[in-house]
Amino acid sequence: MQSWQLRERAREILAKEVGYVSKPHGGRLRVALAFPNTYFVGMSNLGFQTVYKLFNAENGIVCERVFLPPKTELAAQLASGAPVVTIESQTPVSEFDVFAFSVSFEWDYTNIVTLLRLGGLKPRAVDRTARDPLVVIGGAVTFVNPEPLAPFADVIAAGEGEVLIPSLLTAFNSASDRDDLLRRLAADRGFYVPSFYDVRHSDDGTIEAFVPRPETGAPVVVKKAALKTTDAVDPPATTIFTPDTELGSRFLIEVVRGCANLCRFCWAGYNYLPVRAFPKDRILQLAANARPHSARAGLVSIALCDHPDIEEILTRLVEMGYSISPASLRLDDLTPTLLELLRRSGERTITVAPETGSDRLRRVINKTVTNDEILAAAEMIFASGFDNLKLYFMIGLPTETDDDLVAIHDMTLQIRETMLRHQRGRGHIGRIVGSVNPLVPKPGTTYQWLPMEDDRSIDRKIKRMRSLMGGMDNVYFNIKSERHSFYQALLSLGDRRVAAAIEAAERNGGNWRAAVAETGVDADFFVFRDRSTDKVLPWDIIDGGLKDHFFRSEFDKGLREEWTLPPKRQKENARLLPILQ
Ligand code: SF4
Repeated sequence: MQSWQLRERAREILAKEVGYVSKPHGGRLRVALAFPNTYFVGMSNLGFQTVYKLFNAENGIVCERVFLPPKTELAAQLASGAPVVTIESQTPVSEFDVFAFSVSFEWDYTNIVTLLRLGGLKPRAVDRTARDPLVVIGGAVTFVNPEPLAPFADVIAAGEGEVLIPSLLTAFNSASDRDDLLRRLAADRGFYVPSFYDVRHSDDGTIEAFVPRPETGAPVVVKKAALKTTDAVDPPATTIFTPDTELGSRFLIEVVRGCANLCRFCWAGYNYLPVRAFPKDRILQLAANARPHSARAGLVSIALCDHPDIEEILTRLVEMGYSISPASLRLDDLTPTLLELLRRSGERTITVAPETGSDRLRRVINKTVTNDEILAAAEMIFASGFDNLKLYFMIGLPTETDDDLVAIHDMTLQIRETMLRHQRGRGHIGRIVGSVNPLVPKPGTTYQWLPMEDDRSIDRKIKRMRSLMGGMDNVYFNIKSERHSFYQALLSLGDRRVAAAIEAAERNGGNWRAAVAETGVDADFFVFRDRSTDKVLPWDIIDGGLKDHFFRSEFDKGLREEWTLPPKRQKENARLLPILQ
């Protein structure tokens, strides 16, 4: 594709949008903000939209968006050498001061490399110069384990944009040159400058230490930066509306951040603590402002009902004429009032995550609901008139046996009975759609030291699940293959040596098996190794607030099949998890 065609396409995109920001560049810090996937995917990502808004909220910053070209055009664009341009002013990325990435998914890591190349930059920081834009990589995934991306980034943003963006601007305004800028950022909370550290390895391949280079002043660990309170903060919400996106012109809004349930496998739960509700009045005001552009509200929160005013918020959204799609709902949150409100808004499906079929295993993973409560919730859901139920399960959990797999089948059968009982007289029967994923142990969770369950065992369990769940009318199960999870685990659990495989996978079109073989990256070492005696884990360079002794005691409690109950969730959180001190 020629440059003029890229500019033309950007202008066409802009013509269909409402809410983008266009500012003069002069005298401002220029930020090209990339979502490492297509426009279609990226514009439905609330994190990306939020960072765009936060950057542009600063008078001293102009932020414009960049996306990966559609698959059909990618090869031609790479071959033509035409530089990727921003949507707003159709300016090549290389003319910006900062090339920032908002990354939500491990699978997009190869796309970061592609976008750097499309921007005319060398993928590795060590090969770039101070004349290139500063490459800043942030987003949910990177503050959990930034190491596989470390060689590509000048700076990794570890934490929440609300705190980091003003600090980035201050550092730019005060710095005399690139070295000075990096030093200032490294001295600030939440900025990790990978090139300021030597990573020392032991003979067995594990990390012995991250050693800050003496002249840099870099800290021994980088503390995550998070908002102390959301009392006076606007909730993240869609600001740009476009019909050309995955979720259509849906108005997305974050109602409450975090979840206090402390499920032992859940990195989102641990990493967004403490639970912080956004102000009800601001949520409703933003929803009212967005109503002319959208009739559908997507409530993006992992624990929606931890908001103290959730029922009032839903009532008002329904009154405004919104149909409402919640993200998955926590089973212990469901109430008849809540379900009634969702039904009135037109929703036909509820999504919940029992995770497993037995109470015993739910105590191991700290999912604090019982089978009786799940069945009571199913009763409430179908009695409220919902057609369909989506269920999320995991396999490969610690202490899991065949009985636990059978228990998933038995519970689904009982839920199906409930559905049939409520729907038989109505003329049509809904669906139960189950999704089963192997556990990928995640950094920053109780399971961070665990190896992933080995291929053969997971394969056997997948086959077993397929045979258990087949042949039930109105029940459809999607059971993920083991290989998919294996490479995802490599990207989650790896260190900076994995970057070579990311580059190779980018070159060969996503063939991870070949990429790992070609680069000699020992994927099994990262995925299948018990890390419990490792001195340093790759993600220890970031201090997310929760300490090892907490995770270790949670692990032991899990083996004793004990829950850590979250009775008064928000209060308990603040006491247990002082991440903001
Ligand atoms: S309830 Fe859901 S969001 Fe909360 S910690 Fe558990 S899995 Fe994570």
